[in-house]
Amino acid sequence: MTIKEAQEAVDRWIKEYGVRYFSELTNMAVLTEEVGELARVMARKYGDQSFKPGEKDNLGEEMADILWVLLCLANQTGVNLTEELQKSIEKKTQRDSLRHIQNEKLKA
Ligand SMILES: [Mg+2]
Repeated sequence: MTIKEAQEAVDRWIKEYGVRYFSELTNMAVLTEEVGELARVMARKYGDQSFKPGEKDNLGEEMADILWVLLCLANQTGVNLTEELQKSIEKKTQRDSLRHIQNEKLKA
């Protein structure tokens, strides 16, 4: 699935099952909530915390939740994420093409 197809799939789902998009600010709050859920799993899995009884390692699910809300926000604000990701990669390449290669801290 391409990013364009993902944006279209989310849009179809919202129109078929979601009635309408939540407001942009509501979805921003939901995005923040989902990032917190991912942080909780990361803290349990890679950090010093352990999973509580009943909790599960659902790293991928939480990442997908974040992507879903981000795709919603892109759709409702008219952002083409394919173009924006391409621009972001180009920007990082121009800005950081030598930065990390020359970072001695990364060579350990
Ligand atoms: Mg979640």
